[in-house]
Amino acid sequence: MKIETKCLHAGYTPKNTEPRVVPIVQSTTYVYDSTDDVAAVFDDPTKSLIYSRFENPTVMAVEDKIAALEGGIGAMCTSSGQAASLLSLLNILQAGDSFISAATIYGGTINLFAYTMKKLGIECIFVDADAPEEEIRAAFKPNTKAVFGETLANPALSVFDIEKFAKIAHENGVPLIIDNTFPTPILCRPFEYGADIIVHSTTKYMDGHAVQGGGVIIDSGNFDWTNGKFPEFTEPDESYHGTVYTKTYGKAAYIIKARMQLMRDFGCYPSAQSAFYLNLGLETLHIRMKQYCENAMKVAEYLEADKHIESVNYPGLAGNKYHELAKKYLPDGTSGVISFIIKGGRSAAVKFMDSLKLASNEVHVADIRTCVLHPASATHRQLTDEQLAAAGINGGLVRFSVGLENVDDILDDLRQALSALD
Ligand SMILES: *Cc1c(COP(=O)(O)O)cnc(C)c1O
Repeated sequence: MKIETKCLHAGYTPKNTEPRVVPIVQSTTYVYDSTDDVAAVFDDPTKSLIYSRFENPTVMAVEDKIAALEGGIGAMCTSSGQAASLLSLLNILQAGDSFISAATIYGGTINLFAYTMKKLGIECIFVDADAPEEEIRAAFKPNTKAVFGETLANPALSVFDIEKFAKIAHENGVPLIIDNTFPTPILCRPFEYGADIIVHSTTKYMDGHAVQGGGVIIDSGNFDWTNGKFPEFTEPDESYHGTVYTKTYGKAAYIIKARMQLMRDFGCYPSAQSAFYLNLGLETLHIRMKQYCENAMKVAEYLEADKHIESVNYPGLAGNKYHELAKKYLPDGTSGVISFIIKGGRSAAVKFMDSLKLASNEVHVADIRTCVLHPASATHRQLTDEQLAAAGINGGLVRFSVGLENVDDILDDLRQALSALD
């Protein structure tokens, strides 16, 4: 199946007389014929359903669809993107370990990595993703167990060189984890460039309609966990009757371990209702991503020519610093998110935003409706000035998430709000 067809059909194939649409299975529990059947499912939880903290048929249909879209061997949904990022790493790291992350990532992820993970005894080593390879290699320590980056960073909109980082990670015997939230698998499939694990906030384009919050982890099945660096995968898990994940589950060791240990213990599994909404969003993802890119390109070109604008950051624009990387990794477009700096700094940016009529001021991005945010006073307000600069954020920066309205209406709204600055 081509990716457009997978958006509609992957993950759920109804049999004779079954519902055409993925049903919402609103049940926390599953029944078994005998005590032996229950025992068997505890011995191998992949054989059947145990309990809704581990799995649910509606959620599983969506997991299979997303795995198919990314080209992975399995996926696990979580109740938020944050939970997906956290579990993707905790599945590999423990206290005393470190990992490397690009400094240009989502602000919430920076908090998680720099502060909360530190409290758990896990060190995040931030690197400049554009640094030469030698500098990135030099950041590795003997206890470094993973590398993390965002394909298209929120809100810096830098494009991450997946192949460069996959090569360096693999030279060091560790996996590369990619947050692919902004491109979605429609615009980029990081496994094709050597990434090992992908995470998403499904709250963004995947749902797209701003009706559910969620996340997902996808496993490529390609990483070799038996290289000696990952005893948690190759030695018996005492919390699961001595299961050795690489032995019992082979290529699916990572994603099954994530469910059996971490979902069991942290319990951040989404509801069936949320998964149902997410699935509706996924069904039109291919159409929507195409239109977001088309609208955003027109908006970016318009802003670039406007006298009130100091600079426009959209990797789709020819002069952009990341244009070459975008052509390689995001040839069909760089999503609907644009950032720009308004002349006159913070106060001008706020005045412009408050003058918008169609675009709504909201703490969201990648919505079906055009929305706008001032990162320095919202999502990134916890960051120090140095961290803000490292994350690529200027005080006068506006993040503009182009929606699916007629682009002429979006341009009219921009025109009238910018003229308020005269
Ligand atoms: C929003 C976002 C997250 C966090 O996702 P939530 O669903 O809000 O928890 C992670 N990464 C990126 C790139 C995001 O945009």
